[in-house]
Amino acid sequence: MRILVTGGAGFIGSHIVDAYLEAGHDVAVVDNLSTGRRANVNRAAHLYEVDIHAREFERIVADFRPEVINHHAAQASVKVGQADPVHDLEVNGGGTARVASLAIAHGVRKIIYASSGGTVYGEPIALPVTEDHPIAPRSAYGTSKYVGELYVQLAARTAGIQYTILRYGNAYGPRQDPQGEAGVVAIFTGLMLGGQQCTIDGDGEQKKDYLYVGDIARANVLALDRGPALVANIGTGVGTTVNEIYRVLSAVTGNTIPPRFGPPRPGDVRNFWLDCSRARAELGWEPRVSFEEGIRRTVESFRP
Ligand code: NAD
Repeated sequence: MRILVTGGAGFIGSHIVDAYLEAGHDVAVVDNLSTGRRANVNRAAHLYEVDIHAREFERIVADFRPEVINHHAAQASVKVGQADPVHDLEVNGGGTARVASLAIAHGVRKIIYASSGGTVYGEPIALPVTEDHPIAPRSAYGTSKYVGELYVQLAARTAGIQYTILRYGNAYGPRQDPQGEAGVVAIFTGLMLGGQQCTIDGDGEQKKDYLYVGDIARANVLALDRGPALVANIGTGVGTTVNEIYRVLSAVTGNTIPPRFGPPRPGDVRNFWLDCSRARAELGWEPRVSFEEGIRRTVESFRP
């Protein structure tokens, strides 16, 4: 199958590219390298260093004629979205509208879209959070990711495009940027391997749904053939505290410097974990990599 992956030079997208190639597919990547890295991109995929807003993007879609567009390009930082909500909306909302309209214009069968289970629901009214939970984001980023979902579904309603919208929990794993703002696992791993002290936001008892990136990539492989009109949470169904992450990482890296506790993050959702029974039923997906194993793989990949 010919698959175009936007954001395929990024953390999650590059693992999806690897998984598609391993399954024997023909993969092209469109990425403007704003946060992604050329080195992340598998050599067997063709990388177009192009912005999804650029005119050239349409020529690539027309020439490559993908059967599926897997759309992972995004402004992926909650903090950046808060600082510049207009830019955030242009990339995540406008960018997805562009992907959807090109998919319609060029006969693409299906869009697979990366949404955010950690932000579109806002503060959970019940746990675990199901897909039927009200949409009530508390950030510009969560809002713009949901806007993207609406454009994907618009393409389905008006042009019959198939879609699988995957609402991820908090991804972690190899290639996540330790300088980034989003990934506590990557940040702590980088600090601990460098012999430095970690700062925990708030009391560290906040619980989130941390999912190994390889499990996310597998959901994207399954979505190629299944779930033609599906919105599904992709997580572990379990909440893990930041203190627990610190403890596991400390054991694996051998860094025992006690953490510092800082102020809580403003606007942060305190507790969320996702009900993933729909993904199990519709995609035949469930996570396979335990938290301890995922952390071990992450630490090994971060070692210099
Ligand atoms: P990332 O920043 O590593 O990946 C995003 C990629 O998109 C980068 O390679 C970047 O260069 C590229 N990009 C950004 N703007 C672009 C543009 N205008 N044109 C072309 N390419 C552009 O982030 P990530 O964590 O790998 O996130 C990937 C996707 O998954 C995003 O859509 C994000 O919203 C979503 N997501 C991530 C998480 C998580 O925990 N990391 C959770 C839920 C959803």
